[in-house]
Amino acid sequence: MTRTVAIVGGGASGTLVASLLVRASEAMHVVIIDPCERLGRGVAYATGIPRHTLNVPAAKMSALASDRNHFVRWLAANAGDAYGPSSFVPRSLYGDYLNDIATETRVAAPDRWRHVRSSALDVRLENDGVHVTCSNGEVVRADRLVVATGNASPAAWPNMSREARRSRRYFGSTWDPGALMPDSPGESVVLLGTGLTAVDALFGLRENGHRGPIIMVSRRGLLPLEHAASNATAATSLEADTASGLLSALRDRVREMPASGGDWRGHVDALRPHTNAMWKALSLVEQRRFLRHALPYWNVHRHRMPPEAGKAVADALAAGTLRVFAGRTGAITVSGDRLRVPVKLRGSADVVTLDAGRVINCSGPQHDVRKLADPFVQSLLAHGLMVPNTLGIGMSIAENGALVDAHGTASTRLFAIGPACFGPLIETTAMPDIREQARDLAALLSAG
Ligand SMILES: Cc1cc2nc3c(=O)[nH]c(=O)nc-3n(C[C@H](O)[C@H](O)[C@H](O)COP(=O)(O)OP(=O)(O)OC[C@H]3O[C@@H](n4cnc5c(N)ncnc54)[C@H](O)[C@@H]3O)c2cc1C
Repeated sequence: MTRTVAIVGGGASGTLVASLLVRASEAMHVVIIDPCERLGRGVAYATGIPRHTLNVPAAKMSALASDRNHFVRWLAANAGDAYGPSSFVPRSLYGDYLNDIATETRVAAPDRWRHVRSSALDVRLENDGVHVTCSNGEVVRADRLVVATGNASPAAWPNMSREARRSRRYFGSTWDPGALMPDSPGESVVLLGTGLTAVDALFGLRENGHRGPIIMVSRRGLLPLEHAASNATAATSLEADTASGLLSALRDRVREMPASGGDWRGHVDALRPHTNAMWKALSLVEQRRFLRHALPYWNVHRHRMPPEAGKAVADALAAGTLRVFAGRTGAITVSGDRLRVPVKLRGSADVVTLDAGRVINCSGPQHDVRKLADPFVQSLLAHGLMVPNTLGIGMSIAENGALVDAHGTASTRLFAIGPACFGPLIETTAMPDIREQARDLAALLSAG
């Protein structure tokens, strides 16, 4: 008997789970719903800017949990000897890799693979299955549905006048059309955020001919740290049941490190297989504490930039073409032909006022599902098919990836994968996590 799985979202997560489902059994049919032209790219791998590289070496970026060298072999076959296992390759190339996996699967099983180039707007559970209404008017019927809607746009920046928000000089996301195309090479640009996305914006602007000053602003002014060749440390967990306990245990471990080799990076990476278990073991209060106080510090240590990117950022800082402020922005307003951004500096009463030709919101994705603009996500909420996680970030999701509904029941028909699972999981956005989720979800859905 055939079974159809509808997948909303054709980025890395959706494309991967679709491919594994079709490969798992001849009974499986997939319908991927995404307006994109080329599957696999999503937000992360759609950029055409060569300096937008992966922030993880190629050796760790296989899309297949069952074949850890898959991406390195693909690179050797498709990109000559330009890159090796330790290379940080352009993200567009990684998008080609994921698209190839999709194409191979479709060519091998054309009758069981369908891409509906449309947005999902609404979802309903009926007796004969899950019904997804798409923006082209089609209603897709499936036995199961996977939510793979991925990385949401940033939350609306607080304290911004309506005029400023509507100004053509403000961009709500780095990936909005035209955000990285400066009007003039010399205009000053304010980036709201100092993480990897702000670094992407810096490189994107420069690549597109921008030469003017760039100012990054965030509450703590923390830039991502750099990768280095660190000695691998055996994967181990930390024993603590509070956020501060975990951090001080990690600090102790780094301090005890023998002077002979390795550095803190090895210890941070060694936690990786255990991070989600440690996260789940924390009480709600401690999880909140971690998010409020520790997450920004954790992020800059855990999500690092390639050494070449780190050097380019350091050079820009040294040359004064890039400045970083730690502080809170006040009311952002329109002033003549510019945007005015007041910044109250951290730990001081001083306020610096920046005049910007362009302001780009480079802060992280909106995690509060109640505030997402996506009508499909809103329909899941409105029909009680999904509820926010108790932390107020992300969706409520069971151990096996099933959505938990308004009655607290784990669905047998609706599942989620990837960044959509942030909240219940703290490591769920990067490929090493997604490939394992895709493997497990494909096994579950193809089994029954
Ligand atoms: C800029 C950036 C760089 C990154 N770099 C790395 C890296 O180097 N290494 C790494 O491991 N991870 C990286 N990541 C993490 C990244 O989240 C994952 O690697 C992966 O790309 C997530 O894929 P996804 O499919 O879940 O989400 P997304 O890429 O966000 O894709 C979601 C897809 O869902 C579609 N969609 C959303 N709503 C609907 C709807 N209602 N109807 C139809 N379609 C819909 C969108 O069109 C989109 O195509 C990066 C992330 C970002 C944002």
